[in-house]
Amino acid sequence: MKEEIIEAAKKTAKKVAVKAAKKAVEAAEVVVNKAADALKEAAVPVITPEMAKIPAGPLELKWTNYKNHQKLVNPANKRRLDVIVIGTGLAGASAAASLAEMGFNVLNFCIQDSPRRAHSIAAQGGINAAKNYQNDGDSVYRLYYDTIKGGDYRAREANVYRLAEVSNNIIDQCVAQGVPFAREYGGLLDNRSFGGAQVSRTFYAKGQTGQQLLLGAYSALSRQIGKGKVKMYTRYEMLDIVLIKDENGEQRARGIIARNLVTGRIERFFAHAVVVGSGGYGNTFFLSTNAMASNGSAAMQMYRHGALFANPCYAQIHPTCIPKHGDFQSKLTLMSESLRNDGRIWVPKKLEDAKRLQAGEIKGRDIPEEDRDYYLERRYPAFGNLVPRDVASRAAKERCDKGYGVNNTGLAVFLDFSDAIQRLGKDVVAQKYGNLFQMYEKIVDENPYENPMMIFPAIHYTMGGIWVDYELQTTVKGLFCIGEANFSDHGANRLGASALMQGLADGYFVLPYTIQNYLSDQIGVPRMSTDLPEFAAAEKAVQDKIDRLMAIQGKRSVDSIHKELGLVMWDFVGMGRTAEGLKEGIKKIDAIKKEFWTNVYIPGEANSLNNELEKALRLADFIEIGRLMAVDALHREESCGGHFREEYQTPEGEALRQDDKFAYVGCWKYMGDDKEPQLIKEPLDYEFTERKTRNYKN
Ligand SMILES: Cc1cc2nc3c(=O)[nH]c(=O)nc-3n(C[C@H](O)[C@H](O)[C@H](O)COP(=O)(O)OP(=O)(O)OC[C@H]3O[C@@H](n4cnc5c(N)ncnc54)[C@H](O)[C@@H]3O)c2cc1C
Repeated sequence: MKEEIIEAAKKTAKKVAVKAAKKAVEAAEVVVNKAADALKEAAVPVITPEMAKIPAGPLELKWTNYKNHQKLVNPANKRRLDVIVIGTGLAGASAAASLAEMGFNVLNFCIQDSPRRAHSIAAQGGINAAKNYQNDGDSVYRLYYDTIKGGDYRAREANVYRLAEVSNNIIDQCVAQGVPFAREYGGLLDNRSFGGAQVSRTFYAKGQTGQQLLLGAYSALSRQIGKGKVKMYTRYEMLDIVLIKDENGEQRARGIIARNLVTGRIERFFAHAVVVGSGGYGNTFFLSTNAMASNGSAAMQMYRHGALFANPCYAQIHPTCIPKHGDFQSKLTLMSESLRNDGRIWVPKKLEDAKRLQAGEIKGRDIPEEDRDYYLERRYPAFGNLVPRDVASRAAKERCDKGYGVNNTGLAVFLDFSDAIQRLGKDVVAQKYGNLFQMYEKIVDENPYENPMMIFPAIHYTMGGIWVDYELQTTVKGLFCIGEANFSDHGANRLGASALMQGLADGYFVLPYTIQNYLSDQIGVPRMSTDLPEFAAAEKAVQDKIDRLMAIQGKRSVDSIHKELGLVMWDFVGMGRTAEGLKEGIKKIDAIKKEFWTNVYIPGEANSLNNELEKALRLADFIEIGRLMAVDALHREESCGGHFREEYQTPEGEALRQDDKFAYVGCWKYMGDDKEPQLIKEPLDYEFTERKTRNYKN
């Protein structure tokens, strides 16, 4: 008996000891993990404000101070310097025209058959500026503040203030060029409102603002082409950037390798500096509102040469697009945000009404007023239908997820003009938005004057992009990046009508100053021969890649693989992201990459016009960008702007930022093919703005 008791006591003591030991091990693990995290954190390189070249001084004087002290290039020396500009969208065309006007020799490249066909031509709704013509309380500061807040406090203060400051110059410049902005009856320029603002500051030309602005920039560009200051290369696609070491062993951008898309010939071009305005990478998702040729390849070429890719996960999903209607679709169509000035967004209050709409038994107009849920007006009384895009998109998804969607797939909400037609009359509505209504009717085959439009969120714009300093220079010397291609001034979410503003600010008013600070040191550098070994090596690498692609001769079309990538992106890296989903998405993207490089089929030949080859080269880069987006989204454990991690939301379903951990620009450094990129942080320590939870309710 005694022995039994001793034995039982021993057993209990052992159990207690094991339990205690387990606990101790667990506690030690926590400490070790924390220490490892801290070590990891300490090892992450940081970009300081000095490295980002942010000028000192008060916010409103930074740009003036910069301009007063930057180095200039005198007129005689400008003639000796060549600049390559990639892109003829609003950013590229305005930069090329301005640099040529100043006296530099410009080589300007674009994929399309005319500079006028750049994606910018599709922009519909308008361009912001702080003119305060409406006398409704606007100012440079208010535009700055709305932009910083709209971007969920993830943009650089100094850049955003400069953007707001030069916004007014853009309007003057464009009016002087003859851009036919809409005018009021008295002849003054008219304004309307866009999301995230309580003032009317958006200048517009019907629903064709991008087209009219691009024609303005194009006419300035054409003048310089006529004068021989710009040499225009249409139907040329840059396939690599050439870097050459200077006398101190530092790499500098000195030219490009481009493919003549008509003949297939690979050609070499030298310049003292390279400026890239190649647009955004939204087409990673296959279906987007971007033009078919929009791509991220130029960005990836910069990235592979050491330029950092900043905030790749910040992609904008626009709330008002025509819903997807089939599996064979290659494009989604935007219904401009300007429509939210007068259109009201709603879904039925009752699930049974939604079901009848989905079954096609009733139309939107059949649902009485009291049974409609104007959910944006209900949830966000202060901004109503004009909340920013990220907020409006998530709210639409929330309603559709709950079963209130109004089309046959259950993935649409109504945008209704019946109130506006009653209040203003059909003619006035047609004057303001006629071309958009016509476009809708052509695509959907339904008259939006009689029945509310159906809309759903779609990929539209990318806030992420190549990291640039205050001078718009990348981490590679002599390589500049402008417009949507850079990581831009929009933080985690761009406000409507601010992309055109940024593209033209970069091209007309920022780069023409800042690039001189770089070029002033280059006046002694003679033009280099494109026979140099660096050019030959870059050309060979491009040729090898093309040969490798052409040799695969697999079974899948480029588009079929791109579609697969797009679905993975939408499902795992789309509107709602989770750690688990992102990890799964990365695995799937890796599998798609393997499939692409072993089973893609490219018909035709490389040395002639070959659209499939063009698409394959771009898809190879979209796959890499898609992965980078997922990696960035996984590391950013917070919700902000266009990046919504479902684990981080308030009880009301709003985005929950983690300012103590993630108030920085997440920059990624290329470490080699099939190697994980390295994270570098640019902390966003706000000096002038208080970070608050975004509030559009009151
Ligand atoms: C449907 C739609 C409507 C929009 N409406 C508005 C609006 O109302 N207001 C607003 O502010 N914003 C709007 N936007 C956003 C805005 O249009 C874009 O952000 C902006 O036009 C981008 O301009 P960009 O000059 O940077 O690039 P893009 O206009 O995309 O031009 C890119 C240029 O780069 C060239 N290029 C690309 N890669 C290469 C390469 N490898 N080699 C050579 N050339 C290359 C292309 O040929 C093209 O010339 C809209 C966007 C969409 C999709």
